[in-house]
Amino acid sequence: MKSSRYRAGRTFLCRAEYHSELMKSILEFVREKEIKMAVFFVIGAVEDATLAYYHHEKHEYQKITLKRPLEIANAFGNISSRDGQPFAHLHAVLSDAKGRAYAGHLISATVFAAEVHFLELIGDILEREKDQITGLALWRFIK
Ligand code: ZN
Repeated sequence: MKSSRYRAGRTFLCRAEYHSELMKSILEFVREKEIKMAVFFVIGAVEDATLAYYHHEKHEYQKITLKRPLEIANAFGNISSRDGQPFAHLHAVLSDAKGRAYAGHLISATVFAAEVHFLELIGDILEREKDQITGLALWRFIK
C-alpha cells in the first residue's frame, strides 16, 4: 500500500447554508481557508441528491437521481488536488422516511441542513491522475 504521512492541521465545524449545493459549498470553504489536504464528515439533510455508482467494466459513473428529502445518515470525504485545483471526493449514505438507505459517490445535493467537520492534513499535496487499470482519478504518490 502506497502512503503519505500527515500531521493534524486546523479543525473546522461548519454549517452549510439552506438551499446551497453541498459540493460547491465544500469547495468554496476549502478555497477560502486555503485547505490543500483534509478529511471531512457530513451529517444533516438534503432536499435532493445525485449519487453515482462506478461501473467497473464500462469505466463510467452511472447516476442515481433522488428527487426527495433525505437524511445524510453519514458521509465521509477527502480533499486533495486534481489538475492543480482543490478536489472534493465524498461518499454518502442517505436515508428516506422509512429508513431505507441509498449510498454512493456523491455528485451533488441541495442542502436542507448540513454540518460539516473538516480535519486539515499537513503534508504532501496528493494530485489525482487517471489510473489505467480502473479508469478512476486516483492519488499519485511521489515517494
Ligand atoms: Zn467516489
